[in-house]
Amino acid sequence: MVAMTSERLLATLKSALPSAMFEPSETAPKPVEFTLGDGPKVRLYLWTTTPDASATGRPPDEYKIQIIIPGCGGGSPQHFDLANIPTFVCGFSPLFGIFTFWEVQYHQDCAYSKNLQFKGSMIEAATISGWEIDTRKLHGGAVEVRAAIHPNNLDKFIRTSIEADTAGVVGEDRAKFILLKSPELEQVLTPKPGEVITLEDVERKRVEIQGTRLHRHPKFRKNVLALYGNKCAICGVQLSILDAAHIIPVHHPKGSDDDWNGLALCKNHHALFDSRVMIIDADLVVQTNPDAVSVLAEKNLLGGWDTTLKPFVGKTIQIQPTFAATDKVKLEAFKSALKLNSAFGIAAPD
Ligand SMILES: [Zn+2]
Repeated sequence: MVAMTSERLLATLKSALPSAMFEPSETAPKPVEFTLGDGPKVRLYLWTTTPDASATGRPPDEYKIQIIIPGCGGGSPQHFDLANIPTFVCGFSPLFGIFTFWEVQYHQDCAYSKNLQFKGSMIEAATISGWEIDTRKLHGGAVEVRAAIHPNNLDKFIRTSIEADTAGVVGEDRAKFILLKSPELEQVLTPKPGEVITLEDVERKRVEIQGTRLHRHPKFRKNVLALYGNKCAICGVQLSILDAAHIIPVHHPKGSDDDWNGLALCKNHHALFDSRVMIIDADLVVQTNPDAVSVLAEKNLLGGWDTTLKPFVGKTIQIQPTFAATDKVKLEAFKSALKLNSAFGIAAPD
């Protein structure tokens, strides 16, 4: 069984790229071709990014895609079609709602069923920043630039990668080029003519931005926990293990630290909410994400389901924010935040 069917992957890609015109294709999404609005034509190979539970001895933090290109049979090596237009190889993680990108030219002529790995911590970080760049030194000394990208930023990331190709930047220069175009940095770190910004400058600025976010956090946390009587909205747990979760991520243009954009959640339900295994719809009903659940089932990772999730699925959240009874405007803002969160570039379940 595959984690996400080709149809589901394609629907997810299309909902992340609302302005793209897709070509009809027998092999989609391995590969699919499309034109980005007024922009370039692109070829993209898309698989499901899943926890790498197959290989023993691998770090527990690894995720992967498994490359099987249609038409390549069981033969080795496999070939990506790289002719004429920019070509991308990527995965989509239904556990985080994040796309993971590799640089295709470093994986041309790969063995049949080859795995490409990705650090789980980077995918998780992208749920907060929306745009994470990692570099990995390959055999032979080349430095590959990998990216974890929120669906909301997918169009911009593809365009930025093509710009980097045109500029001919590779390795760490490419990593810096792409990071500087991230929504987080683009407004605050623009090189003046003749000025050289180093990768260290970029990293320093990112730490500073993330520090500001942490600094803002205590007030948001205090307000949100008070609204829920210091109880998890899902299970009612207190025990001083509560987090204030953002409903719309802070990197999103509509993300905010207003109290209607918060949910008090215990550690378990916060992680399930951020990883998109659990969704709360605009009617405040707890739902599960079928794509994420099928990945967990395939990897034998559903332990604890019966106690942690099942009792709450299909029911309204147990604890509602105190403004739900008193402030219609805030309640509407809260509901539309939940609606946006459950839609986020992710195709609606079939
Ligand atoms: Zn809970």
